[in-house]
Amino acid sequence: MEPVEGSPFTELASKTDRCIRCGFCLDACPTFRLTGQETLSPRGRIYLVKSWQEGTVSLDHNVMHALDTCLGCRACETACPSGVEYGSILEMARTHMESTHLRPPFQAFARKQLLNVLTNPKLLSVSLAAGKYTGTLTHGRMPTFAARLLSGGSSAPPKLPHSHGDAGARAIPERSSARTSKRYTVAILEGCVMRVLFASTNEATVRVLQANGCEVIAPPHAACCGALHLHSGLHEDALVRCRALIDSLTPYLNEIDALVINSAGCGSTLREYGTLLRDDKAYCERAKIISDKVRDICEWLEEIGPAPMANMIAETVSYHDACHLAHAQKIREQPRALLGRIPGLKLVEMEEADTCCGSAGTYNITEPALAAQLLARKVEHIRKTGATTIVTGNPGCLAWIEQGLEEQGLKIKICHPVELLDFAYR
Ligand code: SF4
Ligand code: SF4
Repeated sequence: MEPVEGSPFTELASKTDRCIRCGFCLDACPTFRLTGQETLSPRGRIYLVKSWQEGTVSLDHNVMHALDTCLGCRACETACPSGVEYGSILEMARTHMESTHLRPPFQAFARKQLLNVLTNPKLLSVSLAAGKYTGTLTHGRMPTFAARLLSGGSSAPPKLPHSHGDAGARAIPERSSARTSKRYTVAILEGCVMRVLFASTNEATVRVLQANGCEVIAPPHAACCGALHLHSGLHEDALVRCRALIDSLTPYLNEIDALVINSAGCGSTLREYGTLLRDDKAYCERAKIISDKVRDICEWLEEIGPAPMANMIAETVSYHDACHLAHAQKIREQPRALLGRIPGLKLVEMEEADTCCGSAGTYNITEPALAAQLLARKVEHIRKTGATTIVTGNPGCLAWIEQGLEEQGLKIKICHPVELLDFAYR
């Protein structure tokens, strides 16, 4: 087999060469911890990609399985002493894999359509309405045929996504003025999945920013950031979405101090825009500006110094680190610091707080068996904390863990940090 060549895959060699095979990442990897298999570890996956890139291993179903079962959680990056950019290696390898047509055509089609539906608010709303009907017939799980198609034959049927609070694609006003004296102008994104399943979280985000002296712009034509497509190896589809989002943000770029994001997966992708579009003359400059202005909502509030909060929240709260906040954006302290400022709130740590819950984009749909094991482990760690509320900064984790708690019959609430902050500020 010939070595894989051509941009962006020529970059793979320089990235995989950095791995010295020390194995420090193994214990950090959720799929290795569950299976004990080297090929389902970061080191094993990097070695497979490197061998495939050098032409000593063929791209076959074993390689595809190793890449499909990776959560993309990037816990291995945190653990790696050599600075291996595992997330980047995974995206490049998946992009090349998806272009080889190794995946059965029906499965490739179904996976692409899943992403297209999830990232299109109108289609997602219609699908959820239909899903409620079929979910009733299938006890909240996907019909077996669809499940098998997406997961490549897994016997554990994926569950239908939950909406958090009252689902509905409510639009946020284009401009909301600061409620105290104005300190900053910021933009937010309503997102694709967020605006349908987490509209109330978006509204809470606006109110919290207003309470902190921010005028908030919600660009009305801003759509999907491309994160789900990018992480699934659909590089060109992702870039189409990146460019469209850049166009919709362009009229506001000069006046905003920050682009404030309340979804971990979107934030980490937006930070990569400058790199993703560095060779695109028409977009590279604006892409870099956007990357530089991205702030997670908790990061932004801690950066500007949050206004004091008036309301008590007498809850014991535990924080689950979303992978794309903790590992991809290195944001761990700010959410905890903010929660610690809420009067009356007691913060307790859970074991393995920064270990993936199994949600991981569409992983809980495409790899339901491993995702279910990770969820069970997460719920058990939550149960041991004695917390009354769980907080996490990523919509996918939130909906997934909420399902796990419900299935275990645990009366533990779960919400985004801004929802507690919103209450504390009201
Ligand atoms: S990815 Fe990093 S930690 Fe893992 S084996 Fe390679 S060099 Fe070591
Ligand atoms: S991204 Fe996560 S699942 Fe994938 S190899 Fe790294 S630690 Fe393991």
